[in-house]
Amino acid sequence: MSSAFARRMLAWFDDHGRKDLPWQRAASPYRVWVSEIMLQQTQVGTVIPYYERFMARFPTVCELAAAPLDEVLHHWSGLGYYARARNLHRTARRVCELLGGEFPDDLATMQSLPGIGRSTAAAILSLAKGRRAVILDGNVKRVVARYFAVAGWPGTTAVSNRLWALADSVTPPDRVAHYNQAIMDLGATVCTRSRPSCGACPLRNECVSHGRGNPEAYPGRKPKKALPEKAVRMLLVCDPEGAVLLERRPPTGVWGGLWCLPETAVDTDPLDWCLDQLAEAAVLGRRLPARRHTFSHFHLDIEPIEILLNRPGSAVMEAQSRLWYNPGTPRSVGLAAPVVRLLAEVAG
Ligand code: SF4
Repeated sequence: MSSAFARRMLAWFDDHGRKDLPWQRAASPYRVWVSEIMLQQTQVGTVIPYYERFMARFPTVCELAAAPLDEVLHHWSGLGYYARARNLHRTARRVCELLGGEFPDDLATMQSLPGIGRSTAAAILSLAKGRRAVILDGNVKRVVARYFAVAGWPGTTAVSNRLWALADSVTPPDRVAHYNQAIMDLGATVCTRSRPSCGACPLRNECVSHGRGNPEAYPGRKPKKALPEKAVRMLLVCDPEGAVLLERRPPTGVWGGLWCLPETAVDTDPLDWCLDQLAEAAVLGRRLPARRHTFSHFHLDIEPIEILLNRPGSAVMEAQSRLWYNPGTPRSVGLAAPVVRLLAEVAG
């Protein structure tokens, strides 16, 4: 007995489903397999001319197996993700040499072939042989996650298992080829990643995420990795005329070539740093509020501290990679963003 979900999908397939795709004509495991691999990262419209040319050159799995890999790659060029083409060739050889040119009849053996995962194996068996097999490609995942409002990222085992179980629960016993084609098409054309066309969707009356008004919240996104953290002390070495010492960063790395405040480890005594680097005694000034600057690959926790010199900077030292910068009469130098803010704070 089909679920209401499946009945709606099949009715939608009868009215709107794609029924004349090249791999649906004379569907065979070989023809469906090649289409499924091509469609893994590529849209239907782009795939069709590649598919037609590929099939014209390699009409059977054994002709594909017998071809040199270079020629297979040549017919793939433009589709990208060439590991797919290499796996296609390896699998063709296995099917030809070990299985007598026939694709396996069971999911487990099908999945053991290079480049064929659980969903692709199910697509081949259902679309080419009408076998009841559950698919869960990216499009189907999206439909199921939204319909049942399954929270969490499908890359985790728990969420993935839940989606497979739900996909299984709505897959009908009959007309599975039409049903699987329909749910893949619905995901590709109606329940799209952004701005799904819920008004045109046969599932909208029961779709939980649509009812809640937040379909785009599903499926959950991959959690961002926690960035590493680094801590530095930034020294605002100020002379009596209000100039602040800047150092030029090395040309590569963060803030490459920009002017920055001198940095030390947080456990370095700033007055020792002045003696070592400037041969100058100084006194500690204000501690400014700590702040965090986030780069794409790490967080930088900054502890700014003011150091007060007794003599004008110009009398203290000259060096190519250092300058005394007076925020009141600024020179045009490239400054790192947190430095601009810190200079404004000390000047204010
Ligand atoms: S109602 Fe909207 S969110 Fe729900 S399955 Fe249909 S298109 Fe997707």
